[in-house]
Amino acid sequence: SVSIGVFALQGDVREHLRVLNDLGVDAFRVRRPEELERCDGLVLPGGESTTMYKLARTFDLFEPLAKRISGGMPTFGTCAGMIMLADRIEDGSEGQETLGGLDITVRRNAFGRQVDSFEGELEFRHLDDPVHAVFIRAPWVEQVGPEVEVLATIATGEAAGRIVAVRQGSLMATSFHPEVGSDDRIHRYFVELVKQSQNQSVVS
Ligand code: GLN
Repeated sequence: SVSIGVFALQGDVREHLRVLNDLGVDAFRVRRPEELERCDGLVLPGGESTTMYKLARTFDLFEPLAKRISGGMPTFGTCAGMIMLADRIEDGSEGQETLGGLDITVRRNAFGRQVDSFEGELEFRHLDDPVHAVFIRAPWVEQVGPEVEVLATIATGEAAGRIVAVRQGSLMATSFHPEVGSDDRIHRYFVELVKQSQNQSVVS
């Protein structure tokens, strides 16, 4: 089976572990560089990206993470995790850095105060039926580079057309939280990316 770590210095770690375990994945917490070495893939959960950044620095995980991600380790970021994977941020806090990897610009807390948390149905590319998406003080993607595939956008309302899920090679990110609720299709999609990347790296 595949081994997928969940960045566990901050954020909704347990929810991701539950979904991955239910899919038969060897899923575990990553708090130290040694734990990163076991990972075939990694999840960066939702939470608070400024705090994640600071803790990753404090626990000497920032550089090893950035190196594994740029080295091609499949990584899935949700919400704050999307911000961590973005090459560029708008409305970042003072001194906030990201791990990068995705050629995107994200805007933090993009949906504004009145609607900072909401739910709705979204079409998701490669999935037959819509997903029920939960947004909690979510970012959106303002701009994507040429290698980035857009997986989902907001359909209606003031934010119509805003990009909320992307993939670039074996990196993917959603503004919303697919780990809450019982729909495991987006995690399945990520597990497939991890398996594909394993097959590619097997030299026969
Ligand atoms: N607003 C948070 C941030 O900027 C993200 C919120 C979330 O992950 N649910 O990091």
